[in-house]
Amino acid sequence: MAWRSSGASNEALIENLARHGLITNARVKQAMLGVDRAHYAPYAPYQDSPQTIGYSATISAPHMHASACESLLPYLNPGSKVLDVGSGSGYLTHVLAELVKPGGKVIGIEHIQPLVDMGTQNTRKSAEGRELMDNGGIRYVKADGRLGWPEDAPYDAIHVGAAAAAFHQPLIDQLKAPGRLFMPVEENYAQHIYVIDKKEDGTVTKTKDMGVQYVPLTDAPAD
Ligand code: SAH
Repeated sequence: MAWRSSGASNEALIENLARHGLITNARVKQAMLGVDRAHYAPYAPYQDSPQTIGYSATISAPHMHASACESLLPYLNPGSKVLDVGSGSGYLTHVLAELVKPGGKVIGIEHIQPLVDMGTQNTRKSAEGRELMDNGGIRYVKADGRLGWPEDAPYDAIHVGAAAAAFHQPLIDQLKAPGRLFMPVEENYAQHIYVIDKKEDGTVTKTKDMGVQYVPLTDAPAD
């Protein structure tokens, strides 16, 4: 059904996602209206489907980005700190940064240098993106996302954009209490979203959600 939410412009795409109940929250809608997907998806940007961006990476479908934002939303407030693992095109990194401004910070981690560069260049295509890059609201780094990014930890919210083979402990350790981690996990050849909550007292709960299909979170390819 996802194709029904496609549009001829960014605004039409987002309005259609909202009309079909794939975006339910006004803040998420506003943030997605504020980021033109054409700056991040090289073709058919206003189609509600994933698109390849090279280097075996994919920009996820808009309804998946909306779903990730809505799940993490209680932890996305002005001033929040966020980690986006597998930032790829940079699209979601930018939407997350819109949700935590002013004063928030999103670190996008990517293990392939050309994708770090692509995320940076894509974000700099808009005035809003350039401002976020220049004022520290967004930073892209090259690193193995399975280890998180201890330098800016702890994080209110962590998003993982590739399917993990395990519940990587560094990511759980780098969550604030309270904080939330949204990540696809691969088990027995199937992938599901897990929402991992760290409560105020430090207790961790894992909730299994919908079945999904993401590219895997892997070792970096040899240069
Ligand atoms: N959120 C991105 C998703 C890109 S696809 C978007 O919608 O554009 C997943 C990304 O995870 C790829 O860019 C891939 O290079 C990256 N990735 C895979 N394993 C990784 C790892 N161990 N550390 C950091 N990034 C990784």
